[in-house]
Amino acid sequence: MTEVGNRAVFGSDHPIGVAVLGMGNVGTEVVRILREHADDLRSRVGAPLVLRGVAVRNLDRDRGVPAELLTTDAETLVTRDDVDLVVEVMGGIDPARGLIGAALRAGKSVVTANKALLADYTGELAAAAETSRADLYFEAAVAGAIPVVRPLIQSLSGDRVDRVVGIVNGTTNFILSAMDETGADYEITLKEATRLGYAEADPTADVEGYDAAAKAAILASLAFHTRVTAADVYREGISKITAEDLETAAAVGCTVKLLAICERVPAGPGEPGPGEGGKERISVRVYPALIPRKHPLSAVNGAFNAVVVEAQNAGRLMFYGQGAGGAPTASAVMGDLVMAARNKFYGGRAPGESVYAELPIAPIGDTPTRYHVNLQVADRTGVLQAVAGEFAKHGVSISTVRQEGSDEGARLVVVTHHAQESALADTVAALAELESVTSVTSVLRLEGTEE
Ligand code: NAP
Repeated sequence: MTEVGNRAVFGSDHPIGVAVLGMGNVGTEVVRILREHADDLRSRVGAPLVLRGVAVRNLDRDRGVPAELLTTDAETLVTRDDVDLVVEVMGGIDPARGLIGAALRAGKSVVTANKALLADYTGELAAAAETSRADLYFEAAVAGAIPVVRPLIQSLSGDRVDRVVGIVNGTTNFILSAMDETGADYEITLKEATRLGYAEADPTADVEGYDAAAKAAILASLAFHTRVTAADVYREGISKITAEDLETAAAVGCTVKLLAICERVPAGPGEPGPGEGGKERISVRVYPALIPRKHPLSAVNGAFNAVVVEAQNAGRLMFYGQGAGGAPTASAVMGDLVMAARNKFYGGRAPGESVYAELPIAPIGDTPTRYHVNLQVADRTGVLQAVAGEFAKHGVSISTVRQEGSDEGARLVVVTHHAQESALADTVAALAELESVTSVTSVLRLEGTEE
């Protein structure tokens, strides 16, 4: 018997075996923390966490760990008898999906940071965990070090979450913040981000919003107790954002951010409302949008992430911090690992997948948003009336109009009240046909206003 804190527990010298899959940015830090903080971790868990092996692709690289711990045979490692917990930080869908499944089926609890995998296969993996009564933890899959998965699953499990809005991709936030600060265009800023290591050589997953969409799917699933996959998320990236967009945003007291938005929306048009036997729906979307400079998310700059959660009783909560990087992400992984180890040691289970609500996903065309429409028009009388007429004809109500002269004519910036995406799209198509409109320079959504 050993004293652990003020509790006396049995068997606390019996080690809990840990296998780590992947020793890249995150895995290296997980292994470092496991070794450097072994004594503290032992005290916190109640038993020693012992690293049994690390799966990598390349055995020739010196990684500062004993060679006998390294293996390319991840399949054997995850089902070894002396392994109780598996940390998956290799990334990608295959072989991670099969390895996590095999580990869970063998009764090993799994901690993963793999948002791409979870966005599509949480259902499958959670079912495997349920069958063998193992744990599946994934705090690090959304917003790196920032605790947001556990607050949604646990702290807010007695509340009703209405909306989650986040900046969940550091690369795009770095680029948009730099464009806002310097006035430089997208391509130049992307090059600088790549040079500084904030963007990968192939930046597509980040700049086109795929990474944020995977995280939005995970956040929406947790917030609304509904299975949401990446394919359910409406997605637009930032590669079409121009220096002029940032400039016109600044002129109306806004900046541009890539937002992941998950929210409850009313039942579809013509359908009974939630109070009349119909079902409310959820909207899950990722796109660049203007937000007022006084909105808390507008102050989130550089590679930082933040998530705002609005719950009926808790009100507005904001989570902010480092959304990526080896050590910050490993911090979240280690928090999960300690939880999984404590469950092994004391008994207990991680909460399973909760998808009982099964809320339908509203198509983007039904989702009301405010818009910021930038038009190049002929500089003559009657133009404003013609433009306003098209908005009215399509049922899109105008909030403000700003007109500026320019060498090529005049620039009109129209900000609307909330309008359906489909009505706005019809308005824009009609505006483009007007003889007095030279071009529709940009159409951006406006989020975070009280209206
Ligand atoms: P990484 O630097 O590319 O490292 C991947 C590691 O996995 C490498 O050690 C690689 O081995 C190993 N690996 C890949 N395929 C393998 C295979 N088939 N068999 C055995 N080993 C394999 O990746 P990372 O940046 O650490 O990211 C890991 C995971 O964390 C991803 O799911 C990512 O989305 C997630 N994540 C990362 C961050 C971040 O800031 N990096 C933040 C949040 C979440 P070799 O070393 O031999 O090539």
